[in-house]
Amino acid sequence: MVNGKTPCYLNDILPDQFRNIHQYRTRSANNFPSVPCRTTYHMKSFLPSTVRLWNSLPPDIKNAGSIAPLKAFLKINHSIPNYYYAGSRLGQIYHARIRTESSSLRDHLYQKNLESDPFCKCKQIETSEHFLLNCPNYHRTREALFVNLVGTLNIDTLLYGDPNITDIDNKKNFLIVQDYILKTKRFT
Ligand SMILES: [Zn+2]
Repeated sequence: MVNGKTPCYLNDILPDQFRNIHQYRTRSANNFPSVPCRTTYHMKSFLPSTVRLWNSLPPDIKNAGSIAPLKAFLKINHSIPNYYYAGSRLGQIYHARIRTESSSLRDHLYQKNLESDPFCKCKQIETSEHFLLNCPNYHRTREALFVNLVGTLNIDTLLYGDPNITDIDNKKNFLIVQDYILKTKRFT
């Protein structure tokens, strides 16, 4: 995003003060201001967590001006959990879009001013949590599939994995979540 290599739907969610950061270089070397968060859920969401990760990078990586040094750094230092790669390509895409709040759930679109209201057909606000855990329209699908989930069941573990269970169990859970997403046909 800093180097303008991301699609516009990601650039569009950047608050104004984050744009053109190269114009405001200071001794803090390309750090972004942190995003105020009132809830843990928001703190873990895409923009606040990305800003935290970016600010934690070594200055030479942040100042490199290209993405290659960042890729090399991440390869050595931060591996993405292998269960993030579980499932079909389509299942992974929908799951990742919900994780990054860039899906076509009404609340995600509403937050970007792409919808006039955030409401689901059931009249509740269609957040990630509502779609995955609460929407009565998908009650049967949820009941049939989520009974097989292991570990703690909440919106964080469904989107990011449960740190208290093995990668193998997280992979099984991710497959179940993606199966649910696809079977609801919410995004097709
Ligand atoms: Zn609903």
